[in-house]
Amino acid sequence: MKIGVIGGGQLGRMLALAGTPLGMNFAFLDPAPDACAAPLGEHLRADYGDQDHLRQLADEVDLVTFEFESVPAETVAFLSQFVPVYPSAEALRIARDRLFEKSMFRDLGIPTPAFADILSQADLDAAVASIGLPAVLKTRTLGYDGKGQKVLRSAEDVVGTFAELGSVPCLLEGFVPFTGEVSLVAVRGRDGETRFYPLVHNTHESGILRLSVASEDHPLQSLAEDYVGRVLKQLDYVGVMAFEFFEVDGGLKANEIAPRVHNSGHWTIEGAECSQFQNHLRAIAGLPLGSTAKVGESAMLNFIGEVPAVDKIVALDDCHLHHYGKAFKVGRKVGHATLRCSDMATLQDKIAEVEALIAG
Ligand code: AMP
Repeated sequence: MKIGVIGGGQLGRMLALAGTPLGMNFAFLDPAPDACAAPLGEHLRADYGDQDHLRQLADEVDLVTFEFESVPAETVAFLSQFVPVYPSAEALRIARDRLFEKSMFRDLGIPTPAFADILSQADLDAAVASIGLPAVLKTRTLGYDGKGQKVLRSAEDVVGTFAELGSVPCLLEGFVPFTGEVSLVAVRGRDGETRFYPLVHNTHESGILRLSVASEDHPLQSLAEDYVGRVLKQLDYVGVMAFEFFEVDGGLKANEIAPRVHNSGHWTIEGAECSQFQNHLRAIAGLPLGSTAKVGESAMLNFIGEVPAVDKIVALDDCHLHHYGKAFKVGRKVGHATLRCSDMATLQDKIAEVEALIAG
């Protein structure tokens, strides 16, 4: 089976690494000459709206998926005429726009911060008056890794902020005084079978995910599964979805969904019986899903900007390096490591060891 992937970054690369043992081949559509998934399949180097190359991709592959949610809606609509695309155009439409996403949470009875649609500075001033400060102004689309958003703490922060974010449609959200950030990675097959990985506790730095720790019997696991299950069913979703929550007052508030494999699920490559990457491929290919059970305690540390000395990382016991083969650049995710062991206390020690390598 040949899978077409829109986007040829590290998520595409890890999909190919997981799918090759299943006998799958891959083609990546990505305009970047140095797309890091390219060595693992065919690279169609073209813009996402290039209909000739989209048609070529559709002719060559059995189905199409994507590794980022900002794929233009027209691209998905065009491809869908010729080849199955998973997750669906509708799932993508909702997930790429914070207003549609938060409205869906509200309609499904899933707690989420207060929010308001902002199309002008006057809308922003009115929304601040009703939601209050602090609050977070975010662009409705195209935001990632903390980009396209601003925390508003005082009246001065509000002045001119709509223009500062580019005068594009935005969402104002009430600031959530969270005690932690967790995500639930789930997979749903073409037949509706659904499985959930354990909740993961995430730590961000400057808006970029730094550390994910898979939890042990988290008390909010079943509540998170209930919320995520509602969304998967509503969207008749096929594939892996990651759902990010704030932990607050002993409950959960929905932040956002990613309609794809997700950074907070990278630990599953070595830390779960079947990784998020292989489960995504199984789901979209109509194969039985794999077990989402953990195989011990595990954590994932991102390498941002550069990968520390490879010899030192691989020397650590049960520490698994994933080097994306990308040029090193400040703020760019260039690799990660999964750490595994049998108990949480040892896991914390291992995390500290890798953090020391990153710092050193
Ligand atoms: P996002 O792009 O929506 O995931 O936001 C990036 C990060 O900003 C989140 O992981 C949080 O740490 C923080 N953040 C986003 N929205 C809020 C909010 N409404 N209240 C508090 N912190 C937020």
